[in-house]
Amino acid sequence: MIPATFDYVAPATLEEALAALAEHGDDAKVIAGGQSLLPILRMRLNAPEVLVDLGKITDLQGVTDDGDAVVVGAMTTYADLVHDPLLREHAAVLPDAIAEVADPQIRHRGTIGGALVHADPAGDVGAPVLALDAELVIAGQGGATRTVAATDFFEDLFTTAVGDDELLTQIRIPKHTGWGAHYEKFVRVKHQWSIVAVAATVRTEGDTIAEAAIGLTNMGSTPLRATAVEQALVGKAAADDAIREACAQAADGTNPPSDLNGDSDYRKHLAGVLTRRAVLAAAKG
Ligand SMILES: Cc1cc2nc3c(=O)[nH]c(=O)nc-3n(C[C@H](O)[C@H](O)[C@H](O)COP(=O)(O)OP(=O)(O)OC[C@H]3O[C@@H](n4cnc5c(N)ncnc54)[C@H](O)[C@@H]3O)c2cc1C
Repeated sequence: MIPATFDYVAPATLEEALAALAEHGDDAKVIAGGQSLLPILRMRLNAPEVLVDLGKITDLQGVTDDGDAVVVGAMTTYADLVHDPLLREHAAVLPDAIAEVADPQIRHRGTIGGALVHADPAGDVGAPVLALDAELVIAGQGGATRTVAATDFFEDLFTTAVGDDELLTQIRIPKHTGWGAHYEKFVRVKHQWSIVAVAATVRTEGDTIAEAAIGLTNMGSTPLRATAVEQALVGKAAADDAIREACAQAADGTNPPSDLNGDSDYRKHLAGVLTRRAVLAAAKG
């Protein structure tokens, strides 16, 4: 289908983009890579009168080192993130997950900010961002800026803390230098959305797990942390037998959907299996 008619603006600065949102109110919609929004417009599930394209705002692109954190601009594409050396060194579970998103064409256009604000529970970037204890920087009207912890950012299905007249500008990721990482995604065919996936990042001391952070994809209406597993893994040997029992708790407190790919109980079973695989692979470095 062809989208309904809309006007188009492509501001060069964040301030101009925010002004466009203020001017057009509910009639405006932000577009980043368009990989989620354009299908929605083509199906006429949304028909904004004005599209505000963030593509020319170079300040929103790129990855920088900010001491204890790596800072990712919201308009940085998956393709630019997947081999980024700072992320590889300090937050490897994020590029590991991005490598599993869709196909090269979508990774070439899609942005991390667009994916996070779209907040599809089956999307692959929410769980690693949550596991890494990232903070999301949101710019509002009148120069207001606020920072929201990833745990508070994802509010519900396709709903985040970003308001209609606000923009996500940065993702600040505390460095997890020396932590092992792995993203374990379960799909029936390559390039499919996650049926379930697990983002694991683990710090070991010798052969023992000292800290673990685990995010779950598609185990509820938002990405979730497997906190019971994280706590149970501390002090365990990084070996299959030792972690099996801890990882069996992966589905505790989750409410996964049932659909044609699998029912809720099947997803709960998968969560345990995939968490064990992800933790073992992460512990190997
Ligand atoms: C065929 C196909 C397969 C896919 N498979 C996967 C997959 O396997 N895994 C996966 O994770 N994803 C998958 N995706 C989704 C893909 O990751 C999208 O690129 C991503 O969800 C959206 O990023 P975008 O930059 O294209 O955002 P857009 O589509 O441009 O925008 C998405 C939403 O975010 C809003 N928005 C964008 N940027 C900002 C901002 N900075 N501030 C405020 N609001 C903003 C927009 O208004 C819109 O509501 C797939 C998409 C397609 C079409």
